[in-house]
Amino acid sequence: MIAPDRMKFCSECGSPRVEWRVPEGDSVPRELCMACGAIHYRNPKIVVGCLATWGDRVLLCRRAIEPRQGLWTLPAGFMENGETIAAGAARETLEEAQAEVDVGELYVVISLPQISQVYMMFRSRLLEPVFGPGPESLEVRLFDEDEIPWERIAFRTIVRTLRSYFLDRRDGAFPLRVSALERRARLAPDLSGAA
Ligand SMILES: [Zn+2]
Repeated sequence: MIAPDRMKFCSECGSPRVEWRVPEGDSVPRELCMACGAIHYRNPKIVVGCLATWGDRVLLCRRAIEPRQGLWTLPAGFMENGETIAAGAARETLEEAQAEVDVGELYVVISLPQISQVYMMFRSRLLEPVFGPGPESLEVRLFDEDEIPWERIAFRTIVRTLRSYFLDRRDGAFPLRVSALERRARLAPDLSGAA
């Protein structure tokens, strides 16, 4: 169980007396306001995006914002309230790459338990080869497989998605790929035993 960045003040009553403990009748620790009794439930966030193609080429965006500014990624971002995962993936692709897509099948689901996120990536086709950088991108372009800047990809989730895609494309089949990415051992002394 990973504690999120701790709430400084209760959002119900404004008290700073928010403690990290297991509420009565619950099984996991939560932020509990000792002043008003409010229990602040926080659950994982869903990141939705598209592996969008035009012919054999894949659409990548170079990030204009931190984290990983200047590195390449697939268009993806946090799902908004009130939308479906497919609509969120299309919205993110429009926002970051100014590209309209026909959202296809859900292809990659990656759990990131250390940061309480779940990535959900769809295979998609560009409606037209029309795209450009949205406010969060420096540059958007199509890449052939042998042009992918593997050393300059922003996130491990995106590397995994792209590697799966090119392998599966050789086989001509795209089964749903469900996996998890744990923190690297060297960054997790609690797992390796090293201080
Ligand atoms: Zn409170």
